[in-house]
Amino acid sequence: MRIDLPEKVEYIIETLHKAGYEAYAVGGCVRDRMLGREPKDWDVTTLADPYQVKALFRRTVDTGIKHGTVTVMFGETGYEVTTYRLDGEYEDLRHPKEVTFTKSLQEDLKRRDFTINAMAYNHKDGLVDLFGGEEDLKKGIIRCVGNPGERFDEDALRILRALRFSAQLGFSIEPATEAAIRERSTHLEKISAERIRDELNKLLLSAMPERLTTLEDCGIAEVVLPEAVALLRQKELVNPILHGLLDYTKCEEKDERTALVLCWATLLNAALLFSGMDENENRKKAVRRILQRLKFDNDTIQKAAALAEFSTEPVVADAYTIRKQMHRMSEAVFDLWLVFQSRTRLPGREPVARMLLEQAVAIVDEIRSAPYCVSLKGLAVNGADLIAAGRRPGVELGEVLNQLLELVLERPELNKKELLLEIAEKINPQKQE
Ligand code: ATP
Ligand code: MG
Repeated sequence: MRIDLPEKVEYIIETLHKAGYEAYAVGGCVRDRMLGREPKDWDVTTLADPYQVKALFRRTVDTGIKHGTVTVMFGETGYEVTTYRLDGEYEDLRHPKEVTFTKSLQEDLKRRDFTINAMAYNHKDGLVDLFGGEEDLKKGIIRCVGNPGERFDEDALRILRALRFSAQLGFSIEPATEAAIRERSTHLEKISAERIRDELNKLLLSAMPERLTTLEDCGIAEVVLPEAVALLRQKELVNPILHGLLDYTKCEEKDERTALVLCWATLLNAALLFSGMDENENRKKAVRRILQRLKFDNDTIQKAAALAEFSTEPVVADAYTIRKQMHRMSEAVFDLWLVFQSRTRLPGREPVARMLLEQAVAIVDEIRSAPYCVSLKGLAVNGADLIAAGRRPGVELGEVLNQLLELVLERPELNKKELLLEIAEKINPQKQE
């Protein structure tokens, strides 16, 4: 078997060979290459210790030197080179107490999680496959290296990794591996929220997001996403919703972060609606709470929570309403919301009709085809202008600006400085209260 390696990976392996050290591409990249998929990153495993690796390459980063990992840099791209190692005894279902380097490739491959992830390759020796990884790739099976129970006891994150690979590759989980997972669902309580989040993200962005329901089948949803358990139990209801997430990940113009906002908003909003949480404000708060627990960044949390809040807001083909929606949601959320409303299937609700959506999109384009104003920033006057015209600074000033904005949302043609100053003269918010 010959596997194409990127030029830089060949160079790294060759440089190590010339210096007398064994070296191989290893793990996910070998797996992906054998499947004809483009690997996300390339990892090299070698007999050389980290300091020997550093001595051979011009630019390196000490990524995890204690664990044997040095990143070799070429321009912006880094390749992780890790010394053959064994993982010592595991302390807390996640972290090996110590890492020991070894001279044996076999030992290094043995510590890896699944057979399909435990293969190494270089041009000189070809494929090194000690645990039947190639056969499992052909059969489409995820199987632990060694005794599954022991491997999940060492590191419970592997449980989620198994389910995530099954969704990414469309593979089934080998029965003994699956049985071991079912017996250990609560072990995930010990795993950090960030790691759980990363695995769930990969699952949602995978080719088969509907496999999220296997989390419920294995008792894991109760631990990592209890709010969605009731919905995940209703396969007929949830499968089309989850399958629909592909719409977010397939459209190429969307980046991964945006797709994740849409995926999480869809999943959580549906789960909360399904459990009877009808108040928009409550769903917004609940989405925020769940995503905070999973340690998402603020931007993702805020946007997903807003989508849940506005999920019952109708799409209309009316310019005034659309300008008001852009103002209330903020434009960034509004754009996401249109995608969300057009693609999302919610329990008991049809997606927005295509015609209506096209009309709404045409109106949005029209609004944006010329200078427009849907926020205080776009208003032709600001606080300083009003003060220059004789207004006193203070709360009242903000009130006047808000009233001017309301007016401009309704009648955009009024967004001219002289006109607005003239109108402002006639506004006295204190009297109007
Ligand atoms: P991805 O496509 O997500 O990068 P990957 O298989 O490359 O998948 P990485 O997290 O990049 O996964 O890890 C690289 C390799 O390290 C894996 O293929 C596997 O051999 C090993 N590995 C990673 N995490 C674990 C773990 N928790 N337990 C055992 N081996 C692991
Ligand atoms: Mg990888």
